[in-house]
Order: sequence, then structure tokens, then C-alpha cells
Amino acid sequence: MTIQLKSVVAIHYTIKDDEGTEIESTIGGEPMVYLHGAGNIIRGLELALLGKNTGDKIQATVEPAEAYGEFIAEMVQTVPRSVFADQDVEVGMRFNTKTEHGPLSFTVKDVSEEEVIVDGNHPLAGQTLHFDVSVEALREATEEELNHGHIHGTGHDSCGHQH
Ligand code: ZN
Repeated sequence: MTIQLKSVVAIHYTIKDDEGTEIESTIGGEPMVYLHGAGNIIRGLELALLGKNTGDKIQATVEPAEAYGEFIAEMVQTVPRSVFADQDVEVGMRFNTKTEHGPLSFTVKDVSEEEVIVDGNHPLAGQTLHFDVSVEALREATEEELNHGHIHGTGHDSCGHQH
């Protein structure tokens, strides 16, 4: 069996940026388990893992378009401080809000008395990501998992709703 649509795949991975600085890693913790082909992970990584087998180690460089998207300057906006009412607002804080286009997460970039600069881009938007991945385990998804579009398991990867 190799990784294909409907495979449940456990991987260990490390992501680095163009400078070689580590962004994120599962090493030292639990592997990440995902349903292949369901958009659970970024497209560029799915493509790189297709056809791989347990024990395989791969390196993949994923351009922004196949990762978290290009950085869009218009997504950085200045809003009145009053929008946040009496909430604490500090640089680096992330907020979730609803817009006419659906839910949006943004990061606070700058705060002054009157104004707050917010960035609605994904924190990794515009970045080329360099992956080191090892395939730890592989199985076929159950019917229920396919219906839900995600895996069911134990621990932090299991889905939070009732079945
Ligand atoms: Zn579920």
C-alpha cells in the first residue's frame, strides 16, 4: 500500500523557511495524522507524499501558492482602536472575526492609542516552505472518516464532535 486518496497517513515533519529557520516540527512529539486528499494539509505537501510508503523520507519545497497563499498587502488594514472596545490588544495577538466573506483570522501588527494595524494574511502567507517528512504509518480510511473528511482516532487528532 502506498499513499493515495483515502489513505490515513501518520507523518513526522519539520518545516523550515528560506533562511533555514525552523517554523514548526512534530519531532519529539506525536506524529501528525491526516486523511490524504481531503485538504487536511497543504496541497503542495499532499502532492509530494502521493505514492510514498511507510518508512519513506522525503524533502519538499512548497511555493506559497501551494502552501498558505501569497501575501496580500490589502489584507493589512488600519482599524480604529474602538473596534476592540475594552479588549486587551497587543502586538502578536490573533483574533477571529466574521466578515461578509466568512470567518477571518487576523494578527495584530501594531497598536496605538487611536488605531490598530491588523493583518488578515495567514502567518505563513508568502513563504516558501521547506519540509522534511518521514512517513510513520499508513492505513485505509474507514467509511465514517471519509464521510467526515477527517480522521478519527485518539488524542489531539480525533475530531471534537459526537458521532
Ligand atoms: Zn468526525
